Amino acid sequence: MTLHLFDTATRAQSAFVPLHPGRVGIYVCGSTVQGSPHIGHLRTDVAFDVLLRWLRRSGLEVTLVRNVTDIDDKILAAAAGDEAWWAHAYRYELEFTAGYTALGIQPPTYEPRATASVTEMQAIIQRLIEAGHAYPATDGSGDVYFDTASWPSYGELTRQKPENMEAATDADPRAKRDPRDFALWKGHKTDEPADAAWPSPWGDGRPGWHIECSAMSRRYLGPAFDIHGGGLDLRFPHHENELAQSTAAGDAFATYWVHNGLVNINGQKMSKSLGNSIYAAEFLELARPLVVRYFLGSAHYRSTIDYHDGALVEAEAALERIEVFLDRSERRLTGTTHGVLEVIPDAFATAMDDDLSVPQALGVLHETVRAGNLAYDAGDLGALASARGEVLAMVEVLGINPGSPQWAGAASGPTEQALASLVDSLIADRNAARAAKDFATADRIRDELAAAGIAVEDGPTGTQWSVQ
Ligand SMILES: [Zn+2]
Repeated sequence: MTLHLFDTATRAQSAFVPLHPGRVGIYVCGSTVQGSPHIGHLRTDVAFDVLLRWLRRSGLEVTLVRNVTDIDDKILAAAAGDEAWWAHAYRYELEFTAGYTALGIQPPTYEPRATASVTEMQAIIQRLIEAGHAYPATDGSGDVYFDTASWPSYGELTRQKPENMEAATDADPRAKRDPRDFALWKGHKTDEPADAAWPSPWGDGRPGWHIECSAMSRRYLGPAFDIHGGGLDLRFPHHENELAQSTAAGDAFATYWVHNGLVNINGQKMSKSLGNSIYAAEFLELARPLVVRYFLGSAHYRSTIDYHDGALVEAEAALERIEVFLDRSERRLTGTTHGVLEVIPDAFATAMDDDLSVPQALGVLHETVRAGNLAYDAGDLGALASARGEVLAMVEVLGINPGSPQWAGAASGPTEQALASLVDSLIADRNAARAAKDFATADRIRDELAAAGIAVEDGPTGTQWSVQ
């Protein structure tokens, strides 16, 4: 089986065939940096990180472009006081970057800022005007609108009929021919900062949000590319408008549309008005980053994640089973002749190729951990080595390899460090007692550790211990 993806445009799952054999171009809508990232943002990035890792593991060369929207109505509205809008935007861009880094999200091939592609945006707007699909406002505002009535396919991505579509609320509607027309270019307003405007054939102004992504995807991936991704909430109007303006300008645009589900809090949609948003920084305080990553990545990417109290504890418990196995299998195999080959089990590959069915893939992972523990108990080192190799290959694809340098330092908290220090000290006492042939003391220490749930094992490379 090859990778099959659910395409939001066709609402069907189909085989993924890249435009150029062996190579994949992906554009994911990144952050609009007006405020701090919340866990819904992180979820999107975890979902596309798993796609990226699986494509690369499948042997494809991936170019991933994820933009930063650093000029937008929301940023200008949020920037206040003495801080410049661009300083405000960059401050929050750094928060997003910190979130990506904390969760081991692989960096994109490139992360363009919208403000660096204004020339390319103007070029598309010019082509749209020449093709009769856009018009400058006649009220002197300097706005340019996309002419939705001129483009019969408008609404195709979200299957909406034009007569049922809501009006675009992104600009003053005075000069619009149709309330559904959306802004490609926004004329400078006197109450906006002077440095938030660029010269253009239609007057000083700034780009509308949607044209930014059409221009950045074209600039870095070309007029036709493989996958356009983003959160489900971006389908309309953002992606519908991107699709309309790019195709009306003559570009083929994306072959597949991939959207990830949102994050609910105790069954409720996360929203500013409800005040129930959980920000990335506070979420990362609740558990180890690896646990947060496991939680955000464990559902199918298209389903809604419902965060509830105890969800991170469940994720921690599931992850610990993997960590304990990797830890004890490493100790057991060290110094033996059993080599560990990282091999993806067929059942895991089948699940991932089936529209990235991570819940099924995790089922295979946990089943392999169970089989590995049985091999450990039975002393079957060949089977233990093969289970360890499979587990390592799977956790790497899911971005949750506990041994990755990504988690070094964060992987053991103060409790684990205190435990390790106490156990190491007791084991040193036991070994000293054995060396002195004081076997009664050595056995007493061993029994005390066993009573605390710690197993001690003497092997060719010294004494190992693990929490049972
Ligand atoms: Zn976008």
